[in-house]
This record gives sequence, C-alpha cells and structure tokens, in this order.
Amino acid sequence: MVQETSSPLTEARLTRRDAIICSIAAAAVLAGAGTLWRKFFSSKGGDIGSVFKGDAPKGELWELWKKRGWAKEGYHYMKLGCNVQCTICPNNCLLEPDDRSHCRNKINKDGILYTLAYANPCTLHIDPVEKKPLYHFFPGSRSFSLATAGCVLRCLNCQNWEISQKKPEETKDAYGPELRLRPPIPSGLRPEDMARSSLFPDDLAAVAKATGCLSISYTYSEPIAYYEYTYDSCKAARAAGVKNVLVTGASIEERPLRDLSQYIDAAHVDLKGFDDALYHKLNSGKLQTVLNTIKTLKSMGVWIEIINLVVPAYTDDLTSIRRMCAWLVKNVGPDTPLHFSRFHPQHKLNHLSPTPVEILLQAQSAARDAGMRYVYVGNVAGLRDSGTTFCPGCRRPVIERDIFAVTANRLSDGKCPACQTSIAGVWS
Ligand code: SF4
Repeated sequence: MVQETSSPLTEARLTRRDAIICSIAAAAVLAGAGTLWRKFFSSKGGDIGSVFKGDAPKGELWELWKKRGWAKEGYHYMKLGCNVQCTICPNNCLLEPDDRSHCRNKINKDGILYTLAYANPCTLHIDPVEKKPLYHFFPGSRSFSLATAGCVLRCLNCQNWEISQKKPEETKDAYGPELRLRPPIPSGLRPEDMARSSLFPDDLAAVAKATGCLSISYTYSEPIAYYEYTYDSCKAARAAGVKNVLVTGASIEERPLRDLSQYIDAAHVDLKGFDDALYHKLNSGKLQTVLNTIKTLKSMGVWIEIINLVVPAYTDDLTSIRRMCAWLVKNVGPDTPLHFSRFHPQHKLNHLSPTPVEILLQAQSAARDAGMRYVYVGNVAGLRDSGTTFCPGCRRPVIERDIFAVTANRLSDGKCPACQTSIAGVWS
C-alpha cells in the first residue's frame, strides 16, 4: 500500500478561481495555517469533521502506546508541512501537531499521522454470521467479531455508542502487564484482561481458526475508523484461509475502499436512509458516499447485503424507501438481500418509540413491489417468516431462521430443491 503524498486536488479539473484558492490554501497550510485550509474546503462544500485540538496522548502514555504496538502510521494521508490530512473517509481530518481526529483514533505526532487503534480491540465475540446480519453468506457459520473504539460517524441512534464514541485510551489500559492473545484464548476474559490485551493480525487469524470461525467480522463500531488494523487483519486472514466480513456505515473514500475490498469476502452495509439532508442530520454522513461504496463493493465482487434501520420520524417515509429500493434494483440488482431493521430507543433518540411493525411490513412490501427478491425484517421478536428466505421461483421457504439461528436449510448446491432455481448467495 502506498502512502498518499500528493493532493487529490491535482486529479480534478480546476477552474482558474479554484487554482488560485488552492494555491493560497496550500501555501497557508505549509506555513501552518490550518484555519485557512478549512475555510477553503468549506467554501467548496467539502466535509471536514470536527477534530479534538491538542488531545493526542503525550509523555509516558504515548510511549507505552507505541511500545505495545498499538500505534501505527496511517496508510492514507497527506503530509502538509507539519500538518497531516487523513484521506480515508470524507471527514478528511486536517490535524495540526498533537490534534486528535474526528473518529478519535488518529493523531498527528511530529508531522506523522498515527492510528491509536491498532491491534487493540475493545470487544471480542463469536457470533453467528446471521447476527451481522448476513443471511446469504455461509448460513449457520461462526464469525469471530471484534471492534476497537472510535467511529467516523455520529449517529443519533447508535446502539454501540459506548465504544464508537470513545477514544482508544478510554477502552484500553497501556499501563498494566501486556496480555498478547493467541490460541488458545483463555476462557472467561475479564474486562481488565480485555483492556490490556493485544491481538495482532496474524494472531487474530489464528484465533479465528482455533475457535472454529469461518470468518472474521470487523464490526460493532466502524472498521473504517480502525482502517489500518482492518486492512492488515484482512490480509492476514486471507492468507490463512479465513473469510473477511465488513460491517460498515460505508463512509469511506474510493481509494482506501478499493485497497481494502480486494481482501473482503462479504459486507453488510448500513444504508441508513435515502435523503441526504436526513443522512447528515441523523448520521452526520453523506448519502452519495454510501451509494458509491455500495457500487464499488459490488463491482469488486464482494458479496453485499444492505440493512436499513427504519427510524420513526427520520427514515420511515415510504416514498423515500421506494426510491431507495428502485436505486438498489438498478445499481446492485434485485438479488441483493435487503434487511429492514426495527429501531429501538437508543443513545440520543431515547425519546422515540420503537418502529411500528406495520411500517416495517409496508417497507418490506414496497421493496418486493420494486423487484427486490430477498427482503427481511429484523429486530422484531416472534414475527412469522421475517427471516425466512423464499425461493423467488416457486415461493417455497428454502432457509428458515429463528432470530439468529438457522432452523432449516433446504438448499442443495445453492438451489431450491423443489424447482432448481438458483438462490443468490455464497453458500460453499
Ligand atoms: S478515518 Fe478518522 S481521521 Fe481519517 S478522515 Fe475519517 S474521521 Fe478523520
């Protein structure tokens, strides 16, 4: 992977006015004047996430962090004099020395961009792959699932805000004795063990294999925010014959996405709505970036499933849902599984009620009317057939699920046993 050192602006067609502004901005940044650079991007409508000024770890903590191997130079960024600019996600954080990024886990130390979220997961679980959710990717298999602190988004309804909206230093302990996780994993890791544990990419692949997991899922918070760890782990897993699953909000620039996608086998993509203004308000994201990511993943041969959380008063508008479904059919095809998920009061939206089941069923019906062949409803206990895969040929149930458990799988060579219609997915 090549560290980016040239400005992406040189790749665009610039008007004379743009060029003048660009020159002024570049000169200003090289002189250390980050403020003018921010104004330049703002005037172009670009997104720069808020950063935490002067918040990088210092002194003994920083030394310990490096010693543990938890700090690593970023893979996609630009050096701008003593400043750095991350180019992984559209926030494009510009960091002056000792600043911390919007995602909370990147810092500028002496003109070098470091991630603080390397090999230091704050949570580990072995989940059924259905929990991601992925319904058409090795059903019933186990996925070794992990996350570090930090996220590139600020979703008002985040269900994992206790890790996604935290700094790595708030979830890890660099002062205690190190615990390097390798097979066999000690049973019953206590929170204090977890806080001082390291799990390096090669060890992660070995641990996943040793625990009988077919795949590793980069999930819970946002794998784009811990990109370097995700990338190296995916590479190590691929070499070890373990599959990689990305569970993502898809807010990523194209170049890092393409680099990463070559090692990704399946992706669960949160398409959180289909209205850009609401996307910004609810998630601090940009709809077009997410749509671009979905198309790129598809074009690179990654198996994708889409999840749409239906949030009352935000993303429950059926007209918008119909437009989303039409876009999916046109751009990634009707065989892409779509999961409508029920909102439950969370984080900053505790005042809202759960999504009425009727709305979810209307969304499911709209998606089927648009041509989507595999449409599910999640997060609703006891709703009949909400997780059943029906053959699009004869309408018989071919895979049945109860919450995250596969209760029947009648597929034969990926086909309906009754009418021989192929069911889209990665089955073996
Ligand atoms: S990945 Fe983090 S540091 Fe990089 S641009 Fe996005 S929010 Fe900023």
